[in-house]
Amino acid sequence: MPSRASPLADLLARRTREGDLYEKLPDQRVRCFACGHRCLIPPGQDGICRVRFNEAGTLMVPHGYVGALQVDPVEKKPFFHALPGSAALSFGMLGCDYHCGYCFVPGTEIITSGGPRTLDSLFDGGDPIYETATDAVVLRPEVDVMTHRGRARSIKGVFRHHYRGPLMSINLVGGTEIRATPDHEFLVTARAARGVPPPSFFVPASAITPEYVLLEPTSGGGFRKRHLEDTRVLSYDGPVYNIEVEEDRTYLVHGATVHNCQNWITSQALRDPRAQAPTQEVSPDELVRQARRHGARIITSTYNEPLITSEWAVDVFRKARPAGLVCSYVSNGNGTPEVLDYIRPWVSLYKVDLKSFRDRQYRDLGGTLDRVLWTIRALHQQGFWLEVVTLVIPGFNDSEAELVEMAQFLVSVSPDIPWHVTAFHKDYKMTGPDDTSVQALIRAAEIGSREGLRFVYAGNLPGRVGRWEHTWCPDCGTLLIERYGFRILKNVIPDGDCPGCGLRVPGFWERDAAALARA
Ligand code: SF4
Repeated sequence: MPSRASPLADLLARRTREGDLYEKLPDQRVRCFACGHRCLIPPGQDGICRVRFNEAGTLMVPHGYVGALQVDPVEKKPFFHALPGSAALSFGMLGCDYHCGYCFVPGTEIITSGGPRTLDSLFDGGDPIYETATDAVVLRPEVDVMTHRGRARSIKGVFRHHYRGPLMSINLVGGTEIRATPDHEFLVTARAARGVPPPSFFVPASAITPEYVLLEPTSGGGFRKRHLEDTRVLSYDGPVYNIEVEEDRTYLVHGATVHNCQNWITSQALRDPRAQAPTQEVSPDELVRQARRHGARIITSTYNEPLITSEWAVDVFRKARPAGLVCSYVSNGNGTPEVLDYIRPWVSLYKVDLKSFRDRQYRDLGGTLDRVLWTIRALHQQGFWLEVVTLVIPGFNDSEAELVEMAQFLVSVSPDIPWHVTAFHKDYKMTGPDDTSVQALIRAAEIGSREGLRFVYAGNLPGRVGRWEHTWCPDCGTLLIERYGFRILKNVIPDGDCPGCGLRVPGFWERDAAALARA
């Protein structure tokens, strides 16, 4: 099995069991089908998610621990048509099946508050919290780096991966060379035209041309321009490094400003503050006890991507369902027929992120649009209660055309699927795009409604989006559920029946919970 050092890594290696969602192949290889990647894994290797691995022809999968545990209102997942106002015990593990390639070769110097340091020397000085034959993560919170805002922010993690593929060589005037993977994003501006200051934005290394000027922040709050000599494409096979930076999520490399790492363990184990609680061993019975203690009616596999830890979720749900808990998934929707069949007897509620309607954007994240659309259709056909969320990011997925396509697709599956369009706040994930404005969010909700979706919600801006955070009867217009953010102010449809016209509102209501308890 892959080598893992450190107490956390030891725990992760110990807390495994043989998976159910795979097939054995000749030469001790295995095929995993827990998510849409369908990894073919040779002995001694792990899958794209890094948490499922082939041990001498047996696929071992995570089991018996949580990396995050919290009680939230079900509205926070968000489910708006499922036992409104109920508490949900949410648990997560580690790992994600989407990835991003944002890395530099050894020897790359970054600017810390103590002067220039190479990324590999920062990595070598830290304690590994996760390590396999090819990848590792160390924590270096004591080191501050300079960010695009010209200030110091601490490093949350340093990541080393093995990378084989094209490498961009970016050569600056004056002789500096930066070598980065093609997707790594740099802050640039265009050359000024007729004295008009051009905007600054991030572009991937592979898209940088001499028409752009790289930007380096100065202590006075401005930027110094670094002009390009040329760029070349090399091939590379070896270790690459990146870091995650607190708050600003950028750092400086040889005078250029770059985005920090957004890879799998960052996104789940380190970036989410809820996931920073120590990873702890726990049994399904203990999770059920915790749910009862906190008055939760719902139990949710979330925080990491639940599909890749489905065996653990189902083992928890086998105990949770007889105890009267409603089981749910909060997922990126990279599903397979096998995994949906596997979880269907246990999972009642399923939330999918529809991040974009452009395959290129999904491929940048390590998935495909087709797979997510297939999963949405399959979930609906198989009778899961499904709600879909789109984080509306200015300049990324907020064009009229793309929002219309998303809405039309959902209508083609079912006009009754609730669609949550939620506001992006830039400090959370990126430094490039602006926050989603109230007007832009309402416009997205109006597009969904105009295209025929009967339940559209505008989220993340409590009290500012008018009618779009409430549930209305699509037939007679009665206000059914009034909300402020995640709080329920009024609910007249505990069983889902509109008091105005008797319409049975689609969802998972008290009567459905009672039927489930009897089943
Ligand atoms: S869960 Fe997905 S990414 Fe992980 S090993 Fe299986 S198929 Fe690969």
